[in-house]
Amino acid sequence: MLKTLAVMTSGGDSPGMNAAIRAVVRRALDGGLTVYGVRDGYEGLVQGGDAIRPLEWKDVGGILAKGGTFLGTARCQEFKSRPGRRQAVGNLLEHRIEALVVIGGDGSLMGAHILATEWLEHLQELNGLAAQTGAEPFPDYTLQVVGLPGSIDNDLYGTDMCIGADTALNHIVRALDDLSSTAASHQRTFVVETMGRHCGYLALASALAGGASWVLLPEEELDPRWHQKMTGAIENERKVGRPHHMVVVAEGTRHLDGLPIHTEEIKEILTRRLGIDVRVTVLGHVQRGGTPTAFDRNLATRLGVAAVDILIKNPTTSHRHMVGLIRNNITATPLVEVVEKSRAVGEQLELGNYEKARELRGETFSKTLELVKTLTRITPAQEKHMDGAVAILTGGADGPGMNAAVSVAARCLLNQGISVVGVKDAFLGLIRDNLVELNWNDLVGWLNRPASEIGTARFDFLSEHFAAIAQNLKRHNIRGIIAIGGWGTYAKVAELIERRPRFDAFNIPMILVPATIDNNLPCTEASIGADTALNTIVEAVDRIRHTAGATHRVFIVEIMGRDCGFLALMGALASGAEKAYLPENGISLAELSGDMESLRKAFASGKRMVIYLRNENSSDFYTTDFIRRVVQAESNNEFEVRTAVLGHIQRGGVPMAFDRILACRMGAAAAFTIAECMQNASSDVQAVGLRGRGVETRPFSEALREMDVQRGRPKDQWFLQLVEVADALAKYAPFNHPGQQSAKPRMRSSA
Ligand code: ADP
Repeated sequence: MLKTLAVMTSGGDSPGMNAAIRAVVRRALDGGLTVYGVRDGYEGLVQGGDAIRPLEWKDVGGILAKGGTFLGTARCQEFKSRPGRRQAVGNLLEHRIEALVVIGGDGSLMGAHILATEWLEHLQELNGLAAQTGAEPFPDYTLQVVGLPGSIDNDLYGTDMCIGADTALNHIVRALDDLSSTAASHQRTFVVETMGRHCGYLALASALAGGASWVLLPEEELDPRWHQKMTGAIENERKVGRPHHMVVVAEGTRHLDGLPIHTEEIKEILTRRLGIDVRVTVLGHVQRGGTPTAFDRNLATRLGVAAVDILIKNPTTSHRHMVGLIRNNITATPLVEVVEKSRAVGEQLELGNYEKARELRGETFSKTLELVKTLTRITPAQEKHMDGAVAILTGGADGPGMNAAVSVAARCLLNQGISVVGVKDAFLGLIRDNLVELNWNDLVGWLNRPASEIGTARFDFLSEHFAAIAQNLKRHNIRGIIAIGGWGTYAKVAELIERRPRFDAFNIPMILVPATIDNNLPCTEASIGADTALNTIVEAVDRIRHTAGATHRVFIVEIMGRDCGFLALMGALASGAEKAYLPENGISLAELSGDMESLRKAFASGKRMVIYLRNENSSDFYTTDFIRRVVQAESNNEFEVRTAVLGHIQRGGVPMAFDRILACRMGAAAAFTIAECMQNASSDVQAVGLRGRGVETRPFSEALREMDVQRGRPKDQWFLQLVEVADALAKYAPFNHPGQQSAKPRMRSSA
């Protein structure tokens, strides 16, 4: 049975590494293991001594919000040599460390694989030496290694996302937003270089989410006439009056002869050919830094927990895996496969096999590139030729990312020669005949706009509304509807379908796109807007934590989400809140009483602040204020209780990169599905979702079946599997585990 484990970070640092360390350490301590932290990656492993120190529960407290890695990271030449690795093996043996969790990129994972492969040889050599000197031999066991993908470049096989990539992407997207406002004021063109040595993920994803004019990637063969094409695109943008122009280039992009393309060169080309003012921004290391996003914290936490679980629950002597997240499922892939397949892309690029390289990156990469190319077009590929138009509406409450979904859906339709109208204020616009034609260039620059440009509204249908809607649909020759919104919008579409026998105008295809911060919709794991709301919550909780003053405090923070606990649970997981009250579980008096016990223990053990997140609908009786009063009454004046109701700030704001990209992909999926239906004269009703193989559409009847209408959430919610993880990591130090008795380590403060 596994008793001792060590964790380290190696190679380039990435935001979220601290969350991964915290998860590994706490999960392992909770499982009764002794845990060591290795300072500065393989350098610490080779050095030994003070660099390998025991870690306790509290040592990893308060690090979730910090960028970098508190264990430190380094690149170590010595470890690349056999003698260096033998020294590392000796140091691991000295502490009887049986398993090593390495968080890093392909180099670090390769190092871990080699270490485990050579282990027995080094052990025999060391025991041979011990026999010569009469020292006690080391015990005979094999080191288990588990890798976690830490790379802002997002360049590792075996996971859809690497720890740190989402934060880096958001840095770039924010920079593009900021640059576009100054670019618009000065009529400037910006050339922006993103990180990514062999991988264009950051450049491609930011070009999509940031609305770039042109993108240059390592994975795409440069057209021999790329100068003319790029300058032509910028020139045309200027002619049609687009306010800002942005060329995004990944640092690893090369000429056909393999030499790197420099940003200054791009600037020179644009200036010379167009005589315009061009500025270069190389984003550099800001992409690596800063507090991790909610996505990165939660990804790192899930993977850290999974790494320990795999070691504990599947005892074998040959763990040499990387744990990743593929389609939202924890997946273990052999380290050799991860390294070989990750490096294969770079090898194909060296050989000039761009198509093969893109194939290795996966289908989503190529689809995203296609979408970026569509969106950067100056005019649609086809003239309007289809009879009738598609109506797009946004229903319910405004949400971040709705505009991205509208503009991309509309442009994908226009590109296929289909006319599009925007319905003002959701179904109200259909009743009042308030429809506006949407044209290609009207829709540029919508990606980062908060709320909904075409307007939303909440109301209930009256019986006379249906005839008015049918009349207006006929009048405008509407041949399909894309409805973007929450459950209220889904339910209204269901009402229209019910009335199909009476109103022929409703016999048209309808596509639903999930957009609600509550993330309470069927047929999808994520709704547009939820990631932005989650980040708002996590930022707010981080700020509340900063207010820990002289007194002991309990904060009860009320979170939106209606009858779905997604925001409260994921917010607690990402912010390290001690508790999440969820509508799925409700609140009982016995639970509150148990929580009081835990609170007393927490403050007695030296905690200064405890934060509870309470979903707004978790109990009709035990309200936020009720809980405040109970806790205050029971506090014996040992701590103060405060509440914070985050309210509507959770609904607003500029959408995060994840929401923009999700909105773009879902908008495109809705457009292609409805176009296909129109071509086939089908009146299918489908719901778009992120699930299984990615963004896909399912029959609306399936969505209705999956929904627990009475409870206001899907019958099956994937995120509830994380309740146990959030509880386990946020609780107070479990007592009597071996690691707790060890000395306090002197680790680096976070970078
Ligand atoms: P990343 O993990 O971010 O890809 P590097 O490629 O620099 O970063 O690798 C980090 C460290 O991993 C190196 O400094 C080295 O100590 C170790 N490492 C990388 N490749 C190997 C290898 N082939 N053999 C042994 N150790 C390696």
